[in-house]
Amino acid sequence: MSQPVIIVGGGIGGLAAAIAMERKGIASVVLERATQFSEIGAGIQLGPNVWKIFERLGLTEKVRALAIFPNRLVMRDGITAEEVTSVPCKEPMVNVFGYEYALIHRADMHEVLLRECQASSAVTLVSGASVCGFEESEDQVIVRTEDDRRWTGCALIGADGLWSKIRESLIGDGGPRVSGHVAYRAVLPYEQAPEYATEHAMTIYCGPGFHLVHYPLRGGKLLNLVAVFHSKRFDEGWDAYGDPAELAQKFATAHPNVRNLLAKIDQWRMWILCDREPVAVWGSGRATLLGDAAHPMLQYLAQGACMAIEDAWVLAESVSTRGANSVALREYEKQRYLRTGRCQIMARVYGDVYHAEGVARELRNKLLTQRTSEQAIAGFEWLYRGI
Ligand SMILES: Cc1cc2nc3c(=O)[nH]c(=O)nc-3n(C[C@H](O)[C@H](O)[C@H](O)COP(=O)(O)OP(=O)(O)OC[C@H]3O[C@@H](n4cnc5c(N)ncnc54)[C@H](O)[C@@H]3O)c2cc1C
Repeated sequence: MSQPVIIVGGGIGGLAAAIAMERKGIASVVLERATQFSEIGAGIQLGPNVWKIFERLGLTEKVRALAIFPNRLVMRDGITAEEVTSVPCKEPMVNVFGYEYALIHRADMHEVLLRECQASSAVTLVSGASVCGFEESEDQVIVRTEDDRRWTGCALIGADGLWSKIRESLIGDGGPRVSGHVAYRAVLPYEQAPEYATEHAMTIYCGPGFHLVHYPLRGGKLLNLVAVFHSKRFDEGWDAYGDPAELAQKFATAHPNVRNLLAKIDQWRMWILCDREPVAVWGSGRATLLGDAAHPMLQYLAQGACMAIEDAWVLAESVSTRGANSVALREYEKQRYLRTGRCQIMARVYGDVYHAEGVARELRNKLLTQRTSEQAIAGFEWLYRGI
């Protein structure tokens, strides 16, 4: 391959793709719209499945050094605060899936990928390059940026996220589906966390139409908080501030432990949660999609970034085996769409379970309380066993 692969978007998915290509001896150019390659200051959960890919990318130790490995994943009822169920994370997960469950600051995860790209002569990183379109011929793609620069490559990967421009050209299925759920995110210095929130665990309080997730980050210096609820106040984008009055109203029936935690935060960042229906073909010719551009999902399985990293590896393997051509890209899509589509669909189901009310809530609590640890782990077999 004499020409590089052009990757649009320097988020977790785009950078993982550049590293995966580099590991296969394939050069790439990553075009990022923002003036700097960076991630927002919140946490991210890493299921055992993604560690399989870190191992193949040779990143395990670098990610491990910045991650936290919780003892368990705990679900509590949002109204009573009683424990409903828990999933043990350490040996029990390693015994079944080969890897542990982890928690990491998104900026740290992104930084590991960015440094790896910066250290490689096979990856060219270009910030301030907002891609507005591309043309394709039989043997190359030409990508255009808004400031009228041109980039030529052997293939194009649209890793440009939820509102992907590349998806618009390739699939043209309109904007993403606004779910009616919003997430407020914040981090709290750990010393300000109440005693009940300091378990070395990922904890979720599930209530009618809302939930709160908290877990430690950065060696236990920060507590990551994500409050999710149903709201009709949509405001497109990833960069707006939350309204504490709406939050207090939506969590009015929550247990005092939940409300006390929420009250500790002065400023929340707000996300409008969106997804799409799964599709089987993500591209045509020499162009394809990866990560949220291909299969945006609600965050209830905590797998969007993990799936983007899995995509990166499968795509690089396909291109290295078959060449940077339409056969390789369609084969990659074929290998990925059912697994990522299952995540898109199951994430919605998990959201319904988390936010159940009335009899559905009682039933959830009753059934999950009866579940053994082995059954809980077995329920994640399809996901955490990985590719
Ligand atoms: C509340 C919440 C919690 C989550 N928790 C988890 C979790 O615990 N675990 C997990 O695995 N996932 C989680 N996710 C999902 C995860 O954040 C996403 O799936 C992941 O960030 C997708 O990465 P990406 O690289 O595909 O897209 P993005 O991170 O959106 O990156 C896209 C990049 O493309 C750039 N870009 C966009 N348009 C252009 C353009 N025209 N030209 C050039 N560049 C462009 C953007 O600036 C951006 O840098 C969560 C999501 C939310 C909302």
